[in-house]
Amino acid sequence: MSRKLQFTLDFREDLDDFLSTNHPEVVDYRISSESLDARKANLGRSPKIHYNLTVVHQGETFEKEVNDFPNLGPLPQNPLIIGAGPAGLFAALRFLEYGIPTTIIERGERAHKRMIHISKYWRKGQLDGDNNVCFGEGGAGLFSDGKLITRIKSTFVQYVMDLFVDFGAPPETAWVSNPHLGSNKIRQLIGKMTEKLLKNGHTIHYNSRVEELLFSDDKKKVIGVLLNNGDKILSDHVILATGHSSREVYENLKVNEVAMKPKDFAVGVRIEHPRELIDSIQHGDFAGKELGAARYRLSWEDSETLKGSYSFCMCPGGYVLSSGTDRDGIVVNGMSNYARNSRWSNAALVVSVAAGTDFETDDVLGGLEFQHSIENKAYEYSRQHASGREVPAQRVSDFLAGKKSVDLPKTSCPSGLVASDLREILPPFVVGHLEKALKVFDQRMAGFVSENALLLAPETRTSAPVTIIRDKQSLLSTSHVGLYPCGEGAGYAGGITSAAVDGIKVAESIISQSFVR
Ligand SMILES: Cc1cc2nc3c(=O)[nH]c(=O)nc-3n(C[C@H](O)[C@H](O)[C@H](O)COP(=O)(O)OP(=O)(O)OC[C@H]3O[C@@H](n4cnc5c(N)ncnc54)[C@H](O)[C@@H]3O)c2cc1C
Repeated sequence: MSRKLQFTLDFREDLDDFLSTNHPEVVDYRISSESLDARKANLGRSPKIHYNLTVVHQGETFEKEVNDFPNLGPLPQNPLIIGAGPAGLFAALRFLEYGIPTTIIERGERAHKRMIHISKYWRKGQLDGDNNVCFGEGGAGLFSDGKLITRIKSTFVQYVMDLFVDFGAPPETAWVSNPHLGSNKIRQLIGKMTEKLLKNGHTIHYNSRVEELLFSDDKKKVIGVLLNNGDKILSDHVILATGHSSREVYENLKVNEVAMKPKDFAVGVRIEHPRELIDSIQHGDFAGKELGAARYRLSWEDSETLKGSYSFCMCPGGYVLSSGTDRDGIVVNGMSNYARNSRWSNAALVVSVAAGTDFETDDVLGGLEFQHSIENKAYEYSRQHASGREVPAQRVSDFLAGKKSVDLPKTSCPSGLVASDLREILPPFVVGHLEKALKVFDQRMAGFVSENALLLAPETRTSAPVTIIRDKQSLLSTSHVGLYPCGEGAGYAGGITSAAVDGIKVAESIISQSFVR
């Protein structure tokens, strides 16, 4: 039997010392959660850490978390997974636990080879359509900030954290309230995951792009896929986990009348500040090494339009990346390494975009068109004023003053910048809401609006612009038997952990069809 213990300590206080002095009856403990509270640090209040522990006294033991493998009937044969991002990989890892081999199709390279292609894009503007920040083994998660926090409630969240730890993530990943791996650690872990799958009889086709789904004669069932090399691979269970940037996959679904509906998302900019500035705003006198790079989360709703503007995917001590997948478009996103030690901190600052109001929904892929039209404006701007690789950027102070920046401060963005007036790129309603939101945010975090802060644009791929509709119980497409829409691209996840959990849920659904009842 174990017990729960909750308390708050000053951030400098040692946990073991505290326990031995105040709870000598505790002989062992596990940290269920640990979260930093730095509110009012800028008013001189020392930051606190809230702890939730599971503890045992003399003679007691921790309960075992059992991995309950039920009695199975005939196992599903060779499920086919399209996409080796978090959703696809965690689906495969779940099948592995039941001894079911899968076939994975991945359009890009092994994780460790992706950087060569990405570097060419950032430094020379040469985009590889199959190997970029979004595509390749590990998916979009590989060059992510590696934040594993999620708002979804699922028992599989802890399971995902534990699996990350099993593959070499730092142990605290299993208990801190804001687990963060950073791009450098994620890259190592993904390689280990796929090695394990390969060693255990799973097959992965790299550099193999799915061109089309294959359908039964009556068109009601998905029976496999056609690859770009002409090969056909057949399966009764096709898991579609291709992420939110695979436009040709969405086109193929539309042509074949797979059930989809337009979905709301958000569009805006990346805001980048010198890290020291954010640290001092958030941590006041305590800013510095001990507390690490500071985080923030901001949101505001316009009472007239009821539109939300909010920060998203904040990357303390991180980098802004050019993360597009189309030759005629520019997109930005953010990442950091585990140490979060770059000289900058960035976050997406986005405005909600409503399907049917802000973009046309006569065409189910109207949201994709909306995204692309902004990304293309950014590319054309960059091509006309620089080489087409540089990211359009503007000082925050210039943006609010309504004038183009003439010179720009240093940036973390490896693609370089082109001084811009972002009004020429972003839709007017996005500009208007960002202007108002920035002023509000500056009241909440004095100094947030600064001439040393930059806006880089556009941030358009915040989530999928469609939902691929599936049955709530079986997770099968409502229009096509055999097809399991999965992960972020299908509209069922928004981040690494939720995508991984969705992959596991889809695997569970397929496996559960063989439960002996
Ligand atoms: C720069 C960046 C930073 C991010 N930071 C964070 C973060 O800190 N925390 C967080 O939770 N989330 C972050 N995200 C979002 C996160 O990466 C995604 O939510 C997550 O990766 C979605 O997982 P997924 O498996 O559904 O799709 P994806 O990761 O997009 O994977 C899809 C996979 O499918 C493959 N594929 C696509 N089309 C085909 C095809 N036709 N044939 C074969 N294979 C195909 C792709 O190559 C890719 O490997 C970030 C994203 C980016 C781009």
